Amino acid sequence: MDAKTVRAKHGEFLFPCVANYYEEPVVITRAEGTRVHALDGAEYLDFFGGILTVSLGHCQPDVVEAISNQVRTLGHTSTLYPTENVVVAAETLARLSPGELKKTFFTNSGSEADETAVMLAKIHTGSSEIIALRHGYSGRTHLAVTLTAHSNYRVIPTGVPGIKHAPAPYCYRCPFGLEYPSCEVRCAQDLQELIDTTTSGQPAAFLAEPILGVGGFIIPPKEYFQIAVGIVRERGGLFICDEVQTGFGRTGGKWFGIEHFGVDPDIMTFAKGVANGMPVGGTIAKADIADSWTGATISTFGGNPVAMAATNATLRVMERENIPARAERLGKTIRDHLDGLKDKHSFIGDVRGMGLMWALELVEDRKTKEPAAGKTNQVMEAAKKHGLLLGKGGRYGNTIRMAPPMLIAETELSEALERLSKACDEVR
Ligand code: PMP
Repeated sequence: MDAKTVRAKHGEFLFPCVANYYEEPVVITRAEGTRVHALDGAEYLDFFGGILTVSLGHCQPDVVEAISNQVRTLGHTSTLYPTENVVVAAETLARLSPGELKKTFFTNSGSEADETAVMLAKIHTGSSEIIALRHGYSGRTHLAVTLTAHSNYRVIPTGVPGIKHAPAPYCYRCPFGLEYPSCEVRCAQDLQELIDTTTSGQPAAFLAEPILGVGGFIIPPKEYFQIAVGIVRERGGLFICDEVQTGFGRTGGKWFGIEHFGVDPDIMTFAKGVANGMPVGGTIAKADIADSWTGATISTFGGNPVAMAATNATLRVMERENIPARAERLGKTIRDHLDGLKDKHSFIGDVRGMGLMWALELVEDRKTKEPAAGKTNQVMEAAKKHGLLLGKGGRYGNTIRMAPPMLIAETELSEALERLSKACDEVR
C-alpha cells in the first residue's frame, strides 16, 4: 500500500475523531531510537515519542528482546492467575514510587488508571466529590473526559456528577491576573473557597498532574502542591497524582514529577512511558487505601505477561542508564537553545519545561498574549519539512510540545534543535 492509500483508507474506515497531525499525515513504517521512517521514504527525528510514550527510544533492543521471549513462552493469563512478571513489576514500582505508595492495579491505559484511582478514592473515603484542575487532562472514558478541563474534549456536556474544577496554576496566564510570588499562590489558596462553596465540604480527592501535559506543559509554582494538598487533606480528601506524562524520569533529576514539589501522593497513576510504547497503565496506592477495595473487579488484559515483560525491561534499562539524571542533563541543552529562540522570535511568548519535556507557547503579541494557533501549525509543518516531528498542546492550540526519547544521543538532540531553529525562521 502507498501512503496516499493508507491516508484514504484511514479516512474511510476509522472514526473521524481519530485525528492525525499534519495536513498530509506521516505514515510511519519503522523506527529505531529517535529516528522514524515513513512509507514515502522520508526520515524524521521524533521529538514527541508517540506522546511522551516511547520513553527509551523506538524498538529499544532490551525491551524488544524481553517482549519477543515472553510472547513465545506465555502470552496471556488474565488477572485470575499470578505471574512472576506482574509481581516483579509491582515490586519495582513500589520501590521507585514516592512516599508510601505500595500496591498496584495494572490497566491498559492512562484513562483506566485515572478511572481506577477515582473509584478507589471514593471507596476509601466514602465521599464522592472530586476536584480536578482547569486545563487538566485525564483521558477518554466518560469519567476521564469529565475530569478533563478542555471544552473540545468534553464531548458529552453533562459528564459524570460530582467533579469540580479548580483554577489552573498557570502563571503565564494567571486566572487571577496576579504575578508570582506576590500572588502568594492564590490559585492554591482558592481551593479553600472552592471546597466551601461548590462541594459538600468533604471531597473524596484532588486529582492533578504535577505538570499539566495536554494543557501545554504548565508548571505550577513550587509551593502549589503543598498548599493545595494541605487544604484538601484537612477536609479528609486524598491526593491523586497523575504521572501519566511526568513519570519515569521525564521531569529530570527525580523518578516522578511530584517529587519536585515536596508532597507525597496517596494514590498515583502512570501509563505512557512505563513500558516504552506497549499499552500499560496502572494505579499505585498506599497499602491501607488499596486494601479498602474489597469488591470485585477484573481487568482481562491488565498486568498481561507480555505487557509486564515490556514494563520490567523498560524499568531495568531506566535504572541502568539513570534516566532521571540523563533527562536533567540533556534538558539544560534544550532550555539554552529555546531561550535563544525566544530572544530571536517575538512570537514565542513563553518557554517552559523540566527535564525532557519542553514547551513553547506562541502568541501574536507578547503584551496581549493573544494565542497564535496558526503559527503553531506553521512551526509544526516547517519542522516536518526539515525532518523533525513535534507535538502540540494547550487549550488554545498554541503550544509546541517537545519530549524526545530519553536515550536520545546528544548529536541527535543538537540536530533536532537546529531543525527547530530553521522551522522557527520560516514562520511569517
Ligand atoms: N492522564 C494524562 C496526564 C494524560 O496525558 C493522558 C493521555 N494523554 C491520560 C491521562 C490518558 O491516557 P490514555 O490516553 O493512555 O488513556
